[in-house]
Amino acid sequence: MPYKFTFDLSKLPRFFFSEIAIMSYQKGMHKTFLNTLKGIIKRFKIQEATGLNLSDAVVLLQDLIDLQGINLTQRNKFLKTKKRALFLPHCSRKFMDNRCQAVFDPSIPSYTCKHCSRDCLVSKANRLAKNKGYDIYVVPGGSCVPTIVKKSRYEGAIGIACGEEMKLSGNVLGSMEVAGQAIPLIKNGCANTVFNIETLQKTL
Ligand code: SF4
Ligand code: SF4
Repeated sequence: MPYKFTFDLSKLPRFFFSEIAIMSYQKGMHKTFLNTLKGIIKRFKIQEATGLNLSDAVVLLQDLIDLQGINLTQRNKFLKTKKRALFLPHCSRKFMDNRCQAVFDPSIPSYTCKHCSRDCLVSKANRLAKNKGYDIYVVPGGSCVPTIVKKSRYEGAIGIACGEEMKLSGNVLGSMEVAGQAIPLIKNGCANTVFNIETLQKTL
């Protein structure tokens, strides 16, 4: 399920994401959490940079903070896992039409990247994860993730998607005792979406 709004945080300084990580540590302890959140939105000019209204910007940042918090609590468990999968969103492919040479297998369902473009994010992520021994899936939606994880008995999973999608599959994976790590998209829109490849490298 996509957000009802589009956003692009890819031009924001890395410092913004460090602030989000710090917020996830403080959440729950901070009496003025919402005010601090609004302060970040103002300081980093999120509304000007994205065109979002304040309430949508709060929803977006709240999701980023929640996901970061889940990552922190799951990290040690995730590091102990041996059999892992990486789930990439199909919307981060360089091409969404037949210029993308990936082969789709509806029985999984997943695309297999054929590396037609070296600057494609999905191709780059594929190479990184393969070197680390991950099985890789390029999925058309988050709803198929729990089925794939269950079928192949993965102990750990990294998912890349927008926050809404992530929350849907993350809740199910949590109930299956699978250690998850989430990497939220920093630009959504269901085509030409962007995630941070350095964040993926660190998470792998
Ligand atoms: S590099 Fe892979 S995912 Fe990207 S457009 Fe080519 S085949 Fe598709
Ligand atoms: S932006 Fe990508 S991950 Fe999010 S809903 Fe659209 S297709 Fe799915």
